[in-house]
Amino acid sequence: MEFSRSAEHEAFLERVRVFARERVAPRAAGIDSTGAFPSDLVREAAALGLTGMALPAAVGGAGHSYATYAAALEIVSSASATLAVILSVNNSLVAEPLFEFGTDLQKDTWLRRLATGEALGSFALSEAQAGSDAGNQQTAARLDDQGYVLSGRKVWVANAEVADVVIVFAVTQPGARGRGISAFLVPLDRPGITRVASPDSLGVRGLGCMDLQFDEVRVDADALLGESGHGFRIAMRALEGGRVAIAAQALGVGQAALDEAIAYARTREAFGQPIGNFQAIQFQLADLATDLEAARMLTWKAADTRDRAPRATAEAAMAKLQASEAAHRAADRAMQILASEGYRRGSTIERLFRDVRAAEIYQGTSEVQRMIIAEHILG
Ligand SMILES: Cc1cc2nc3c(=O)[nH]c(=O)nc-3n(C[C@H](O)[C@H](O)[C@H](O)COP(=O)(O)OP(=O)(O)OC[C@H]3O[C@@H](n4cnc5c(N)ncnc54)[C@H](O)[C@@H]3O)c2cc1C
Repeated sequence: MEFSRSAEHEAFLERVRVFARERVAPRAAGIDSTGAFPSDLVREAAALGLTGMALPAAVGGAGHSYATYAAALEIVSSASATLAVILSVNNSLVAEPLFEFGTDLQKDTWLRRLATGEALGSFALSEAQAGSDAGNQQTAARLDDQGYVLSGRKVWVANAEVADVVIVFAVTQPGARGRGISAFLVPLDRPGITRVASPDSLGVRGLGCMDLQFDEVRVDADALLGESGHGFRIAMRALEGGRVAIAAQALGVGQAALDEAIAYARTREAFGQPIGNFQAIQFQLADLATDLEAARMLTWKAADTRDRAPRATAEAAMAKLQASEAAHRAADRAMQILASEGYRRGSTIERLFRDVRAAEIYQGTSEVQRMIIAEHILG
């Protein structure tokens, strides 16, 4: 595994650091309090190449390695977890599967626009009764002589409030579970699609999460992404990249929490000295720094595997599991170190504490990651 990056990639990450510090961080509290989708920041991120980071330049991407993509997302997430999730969905769950599985026509129509941020994508897999059990899809796609007709409802679709196109999964062969699901690339302005407000969420507010209702939505046969019946495989492949991205996103939140705790430990005094002088505080900070660094190594390894190997399923699951849980521990311990100052509504730690939790839920819960890892090691 290669840890050093080229000067060009380091320069890119430095531009991302400046963007995160100067443009994103000052907006994070406002995005959280209003829950408004930060369209203007997504446009700025796109201008930096953050909407198609690991895609080749030939299709409008920035041509970075997955490890550089992960490092960039961690930086963005340390300023705003919400913006990092928005970008991760467009990159890993929409543009990359389109690049890998799309037809020339689908790519010509959408890929460059998605990679450059001219258009934004959503990924609609989850349903009310198909979360962890994603094979239990109820949304159906019926084939007739004019194409497919989609009916059903998707829940918790990030970016959907403003997205232009969605990859939607639907049953084409009833009763076949995972082998009977197909993926479709559907413009969100098709007649019969209704965006319905999702429940308000605890954290990562401003994701533009909506439910998507499909009522007899007619699409051409060439809306099919990949082969008929390969939808579940396409979803799992997309989620490999997505889980590396969410690991990086969680790391950003965890590192931001640790940085808050370190700064506070240096300045807050108790018993006549900074609390950072107490070994009880020092050891907590040391453990958190080690925990997050271990998660970072797993994330970079998963990213590197994603670049070099045909599959990175177990590596991505391990990275997401470790990073999301380490970040959760970091936010929790940072809250303890800031004590009443952190517990104040509107404090940075209070936001990080809420934001961090979702990474153990979306793109497969921690239990689902453990199932994937167990299957990998038990065979
Ligand atoms: C903020 C947010 C954004 C999201 N964005 C998207 C999106 O863009 N697109 C999309 O498709 N979905 C999205 N989701 C949905 C998300 O992927 C699901 O919530 C997630 O997969 C879990 O499904 P569920 O909530 O239905 O929980 P369930 O599957 O009902 O799980 C409930 C509990 O049971 C556990 N469990 C289930 N099965 C097992 C088992 N076999 N063994 C042990 N434990 C088990 C779970 O781990 C969990 O603890 C988003 C969710 C959130 C919160």
